[in-house]
Amino acid sequence: MERIGFIGLGVMGKPMARNLMKAGYPLVVYNRSRAPVEELAAEGAEAAGSPKEVAQRSDVVITMLPDTPDVEQVLAGPNGVFEGGRPGLIVIDMSTIDPIAARRLAAQAAERGIAMLDAPVSGGEIGAIQGTLSIMVGGEVSAFERCLPILQAMGRNIVYMGGPGAGQVTKAANQIVVALTIAAVSEALALAAKAGVDPARVRQALLGGFASSRVLEVHGQRILERNFRPGFRIRLHHKDLRIALGLGRAVGASLPLTALIHEWLGAMVTRGHGELDHSALVTLFEEWAQTEVRPM
Ligand code: NAD
Repeated sequence: MERIGFIGLGVMGKPMARNLMKAGYPLVVYNRSRAPVEELAAEGAEAAGSPKEVAQRSDVVITMLPDTPDVEQVLAGPNGVFEGGRPGLIVIDMSTIDPIAARRLAAQAAERGIAMLDAPVSGGEIGAIQGTLSIMVGGEVSAFERCLPILQAMGRNIVYMGGPGAGQVTKAANQIVVALTIAAVSEALALAAKAGVDPARVRQALLGGFASSRVLEVHGQRILERNFRPGFRIRLHHKDLRIALGLGRAVGASLPLTALIHEWLGAMVTRGHGELDHSALVTLFEEWAQTEVRPM
């Protein structure tokens, strides 16, 4: 089995790395803070001292980092993966980053004989723990086919989307739909609460009809329980909509609804709520309607 390097052991990366170990892959791990490295080392992974060292000791390197500059630094920066990688190495970036940067990194990798896939995920922490993530993949088909068993150890719905960056474009589309749906659910539940109808019953009724969605089901419940522990942090969703807006500008697609919700998420970050789950967006609607979405 391929020796896998894993860089970025946060909310998502740590359980994904665990699932690879469970599937029998030997693992070399690195993270900026040392605690998760030591945790996984105690479970059988090898610890490395830099991304370069991870690449030197791996056949496939996976990154699961917060944002575009982090991935650029870890792959193309000093002591990075590209410095340590030999021709034939495959890099799978599973972070959500700018599709244009993903394309640029794939081209830089190709110059060194390294294949690169962009393979962002959807499904959240629960999907990462259970190994049921949806994975949207861009890059060379041959690299995708070689890596499919590795991706299957972390996800269930694995879709090849096209050339470099195609996975990230798909993820941007995903993040638009999720953000707009959270806003729609928040607005609807705040209206119900203000109008004196139990929002818990409204959620239940809507789940049986055309307005049903995973967001209404999962985040609707979170909102009613006031459970804003992340989950998916507001600051990360703010970042994802910034990525979508940048892509829209680059290709000439106007995204008015995305722009609006990007600003609202930005306002949440400014208020110091960037670390809350994105379902906490409802608190803006509650403030505007002067109500609280709680079961009656
Ligand atoms: P996180 O902040 O919990 O974890 C990121 C990890 O990367 C941390 O352990 C951090 O120490 C490490 N790191 C940061 N910079 C580093 C560097 N230069 N070198 C080495 N390690 C570094 O983030 P997360 O929630 O795990 O998300 C990771 C990515 O997955 C993001 O792009 C996010 O948008 C995406 N994502 C998250 C979710 C979710 O529900 N949390 C769902 C889908 C996609």
